[in-house]
Amino acid sequence: MEKIAVIGAGISGLAIAQMLKATNNVVVFEKEERPGGLIKCENVGGNLYHTVGGHVFNSKRQDVLEWFWKFFDRTNEFTKTIRKAVVNFDNNLWVDYPIENHVYMFPKNIVESVICDLLTISKASKSVDNVSFEDFLLQNFGKTLYQLYFQPYNEKVWKRNLSEVPLSWLDGKLPMPNVREILYNNFCHVEESAMVHSSFFYPKKNGSQFLADRLADGLHIEYNQEIAKMERKGNLWIINGMAFDKVIFSGNIKALPYLLDDEFITVENDCFIERLEYHGTTSVFCEIDKNPYSWIYMPSRNHASHRIICTGNFSPYNNVSNDRITASIEFSDFASEELVQESLKQIPLNPRYICRRYTQYTYPIQNADTRKQIKIIKQKLAKANLFLLGRFAEWEYYNMDAAIGAAMDLSKIINS
Ligand SMILES: Cc1cc2nc3c(=O)[nH]c(=O)nc-3n(C[C@H](O)[C@H](O)[C@H](O)COP(=O)(O)OP(=O)(O)OC[C@H]3O[C@@H](n4cnc5c(N)ncnc54)[C@H](O)[C@@H]3O)c2cc1C
Repeated sequence: MEKIAVIGAGISGLAIAQMLKATNNVVVFEKEERPGGLIKCENVGGNLYHTVGGHVFNSKRQDVLEWFWKFFDRTNEFTKTIRKAVVNFDNNLWVDYPIENHVYMFPKNIVESVICDLLTISKASKSVDNVSFEDFLLQNFGKTLYQLYFQPYNEKVWKRNLSEVPLSWLDGKLPMPNVREILYNNFCHVEESAMVHSSFFYPKKNGSQFLADRLADGLHIEYNQEIAKMERKGNLWIINGMAFDKVIFSGNIKALPYLLDDEFITVENDCFIERLEYHGTTSVFCEIDKNPYSWIYMPSRNHASHRIICTGNFSPYNNVSNDRITASIEFSDFASEELVQESLKQIPLNPRYICRRYTQYTYPIQNADTRKQIKIIKQKLAKANLFLLGRFAEWEYYNMDAAIGAAMDLSKIINS
């Protein structure tokens, strides 16, 4: 049996440790006192607070689903929900999400404008090279939907002028409907089903913390152990005084230059890692009025928040009150108490503030070069039996299922 260290007990570290433990001697090191990383939840006055986001689960990968359901009882431990997402505009207009499929819900003058846009873009030729996010949205959805929703919403999320955002940041993460599909979906009232969370599973009790706790079962995890150094001695890695044949690092790649000797991270790698961009999230836990939604997107320029995740609708056990539900109201990057309180006054459904948390690393930003450079670093480290896995180790915009999928792919390489 090989001795393998896994650094980080987020979903990536937990998944790979479970995958490798039958054939290897695996030790997981986690700097926090419990497992979960980004999917951790807390009990606040009897309500369930997702400290980041409001994690729901599904996957398009059959192997991931099969692996996942070996750990859980889908019928008794989970709810299954068809996503009901909506966009809330100022003047109390609510249009179902994705809005391009629900243009018929807008007032008639907007419908007419969107029809003109669609006719125009269907005849125009699309540029494909060096397209910015703004160009992409204008080419695919037209000016009216861009100005009403895509521009203000995405500028809140990405905190940038969209003409400066390369499409490579978001490639593969967006639905890409063509005009024919948009028209068909509007005429026939077809709901979008291609995105991974169009329907989703959610634990009845304890939210995504339930996933982390269950996946931590049966693993050797050393909590409260922040790994500050990984030393190479001969063919072994020395971590916290213990020797390992292989290491899987699922922390943040930005820490690697400090954790490793110079022979592993060149000055060039170091500069590239230093320049990697990211966003954080302030998750504000609130009580809001009852509503039928899973997610509410808010393009309004009158306040700073972009999304309400109605976690209280995912499971009744998430709420203490019978009259209202709990929700996470998200702000991109750090939001001060003052900004939060001012914004809450403008947000629909009468939010009542409970608490908030800022997490510095939540959204890795990729540009056209990121994957290529990360691959070079990964290949070099893999030669020394050090493997990178996870959202911030690989700087990939992974959902939980993609993180599990990446763990599955890596476990096959390690076991081969
Ligand atoms: C706002 C938001 C909403 C999201 N919603 C969803 C959703 O609904 N569904 C979904 O599937 N996905 C969702 N995701 C994505 C999901 O959160 C991630 O894919 C997943 O949690 C990444 O897990 P990870 O293990 O790769 O990283 P992390 O969760 O960041 O885990 C890394 C772990 O390593 C530990 N660590 C780091 N450095 C060290 C060190 N030096 N020593 C020891 N330990 C260390 C950390 O404490 C942490 O526990 C969302 C993400 C965000 C930001």
